[in-house]
Amino acid sequence: MNILIIYAHPEPKSFNAALKDLAVSELTTLGHEVKVSDLYAMNFKAVANSEDFNERENKEFLKYAVEQKHAVKTNSFSKDIEEEQKKLVWADFVIFQFPLWWYSAPAILKGWFDRVFASGFIYSRDMRYDTGGLKGRKAMLSITTGSPKDAYTPHGMDGDIHEKILYHINHGMLYFAGLEPVEPFIAWTPSHDEEDRNVYLEKYKWRLNHLLDIPSINYHPQSHYDENHQLKSKYR
Ligand SMILES: Cc1cc2nc3c(=O)[nH]c(=O)nc-3n(C[C@H](O)[C@H](O)[C@H](O)COP(=O)(O)OP(=O)(O)OC[C@H]3O[C@@H](n4cnc5c(N)ncnc54)[C@H](O)[C@@H]3O)c2cc1C
Repeated sequence: MNILIIYAHPEPKSFNAALKDLAVSELTTLGHEVKVSDLYAMNFKAVANSEDFNERENKEFLKYAVEQKHAVKTNSFSKDIEEEQKKLVWADFVIFQFPLWWYSAPAILKGWFDRVFASGFIYSRDMRYDTGGLKGRKAMLSITTGSPKDAYTPHGMDGDIHEKILYHINHGMLYFAGLEPVEPFIAWTPSHDEEDRNVYLEKYKWRLNHLLDIPSINYHPQSHYDENHQLKSKYR
């Protein structure tokens, strides 16, 4: 498979870096083609603005998604966006490696989504969720946390990790783009204990060897919703 790792951590000796490095060596050994976007090392621009377009449909008023659509048609994205989009098209499987920051991804990765997951490329009125532009590819979040697992249970202090915390990424970004998200890999509080960290590295290694066996997250296709965007009663 062609596997793309989008990696967002500012410290090369971090535990996130260890997980990313393990993925590169393990997946390469297994015979996969691997590419890494190391967003901090690339100094990836996180801010979506007019510099993202080499040509503009409307130079007087920046409507970002309109210019994205125009850039798709005229092949006029800035080089950094174009390169990331090419990697996505190349990939069969995308891994996102990052620490949970403010219940979400670090800003550099959020900016990557804003700029790379472009209107007209990833989504349009007729192209989203199960018909999104990246359809046919799988994706997995591999994250680390500061709070313990118990805090992220349905009645835990931080809220359910799947339904409340990661839903906006898994459903709102990955599935929206047509990717098929699989169950995330989560290393809880890796800063606390060396022994735990070694166990997580072993568990992650196992997972990397079974990437295609990881269950997908079961989201509804668009056909399960009515014209008011409500889930039809037979699917509730
Ligand atoms: C801005 C911000 C917001 C945050 N918001 C949240 C939040 O909303 N929710 C939450 O739960 N947490 C939050 N946190 C905490 C954050 O999620 C954790 O600090 C982070 O996930 C820990 O992962 P790390 O890679 O940064 O760990 P590091 O601190 O980099 O690594 C932990 C330890 O692993 C060691 N290590 C590195 N490589 C290896 C290896 N190969 N083998 C064994 N050990 C190794 C390192 O030396 C280090 O001692 C936030 C932190 C910040 C800075």
